[in-house]
Amino acid sequence: MSAACPSCSWPSPMLVSAHGAVRYLRCVCGRFLVSHGGGVDLVSGRSACGTSKAAEHLELIPLPEG
Ligand SMILES: [Zn+2]
Repeated sequence: MSAACPSCSWPSPMLVSAHGAVRYLRCVCGRFLVSHGGGVDLVSGRSACGTSKAAEHLELIPLPEG
């Protein structure tokens, strides 16, 4: 079984859970990976969505006057 992290190339991420042929792994770099028949993919977290919402929120904050 080869499940090297696509992000940092760590060769043996820790198994978190398995669902049939799909295995969820956590790497030492903090990324979650999903291993399946076709290889290993990074699991995209909510950071991009959170960043987008944070940016929208910032635009709604009025600039201090004076
Ligand atoms: Zn990694």
